Amino acid sequence: MTQRIFDGHNDALLRLSRKDRTGAIFLGEGNDGHIDLGRAARGGMTGGIFATFVPPESTDRASADMRQTMPDGSTGVPDIQREGQQRALAVTLAQLAIALRIERKSAGAVRICRTPAEVEAANADDAFAMMLHMEGAEAIGPDLDELEVLYSCGMRSLGLVWSRPTIFGHGVPFRFPATPDIGEGLTERGLALVKSCNQLGIMVDCSHLNEKGFWDVTRHSQAPVVATHSNAHTICPVSRNLTDAQMDAIRDSEGVVGLNFATFFLREDGKRIAATPLETMTRHLDHMLNKLGPKGVALGSDFDGALVPVGIGDAAGLPNLVAAMRVSGYDDALIDAICYRNWLSVLARTQSCATL
Ligand code: ZN
Repeated sequence: MTQRIFDGHNDALLRLSRKDRTGAIFLGEGNDGHIDLGRAARGGMTGGIFATFVPPESTDRASADMRQTMPDGSTGVPDIQREGQQRALAVTLAQLAIALRIERKSAGAVRICRTPAEVEAANADDAFAMMLHMEGAEAIGPDLDELEVLYSCGMRSLGLVWSRPTIFGHGVPFRFPATPDIGEGLTERGLALVKSCNQLGIMVDCSHLNEKGFWDVTRHSQAPVVATHSNAHTICPVSRNLTDAQMDAIRDSEGVVGLNFATFFLREDGKRIAATPLETMTRHLDHMLNKLGPKGVALGSDFDGALVPVGIGDAAGLPNLVAAMRVSGYDDALIDAICYRNWLSVLARTQSCATL
């Protein structure tokens, strides 16, 4: 039987926002990008965390436009942020709309799930489970009103920042080789956002956060600390990966790290090369298991957002990664924990911390 997989991160909604806003191509099987229902079914992928993401040009263009009309800079900054936030919210809502259309058109084949129990219930009915995530909080304004509305739309996971500065904190820029310790920690608003996520039971994702911000989360969050799509800095020293000390802190919080399939975050040389052996991935998994334990490691493919090893190719190739885990000596229980159970368990722990 094909191993079931609940994956921690993909950018399919971004791809669909550029290719097919109806979402119809997701419901069939094609060869564009990495995920659709047909290829997911062949690969054993029964669900995953689907991100909304505001590509850099959407907000940068807004900032550049505003700077042209306000050359003095200083007084214009708050308005630039507001303009960027409104554009980010529009982009985010457009991607959420695609997820909602997919669910409605799927005639029960896809369900947007809000809890781990809903994921399991969907899978028991052979439905694909989609959990919604926002990668970077640019769409949320300083009073956090948008967080409430997005929660109500089903969003249950949030990346505090993507790799750029916001009113909440500093995303880590992509550098190789480099430490993740680049830039300042979370702002007061960033700490307030963590608190609100804790109260609502929204999972706080530290992938893309710089190291000072990461330590702020470990000090202030009441819930497990999670990185949905990051690898071991010891093996691939890119700024986006996690140091051993960070993994120790995640383990202490009973958090989870999802293995990112991007070759840029896997390879010792930090190169984007599709011909990267799957053994490179199991090397990261071995190290992560060593640091985080069997309950702290999962998958965070970055499908539709990254160049992945040719040995996987797309969602239909996931069984090849499972086979590589077997070659490395992982037993069935450990493989099921990594591929499926661990995300559901940490989501349950996160939601049990909710106070509102
Ligand atoms: Zn990402």
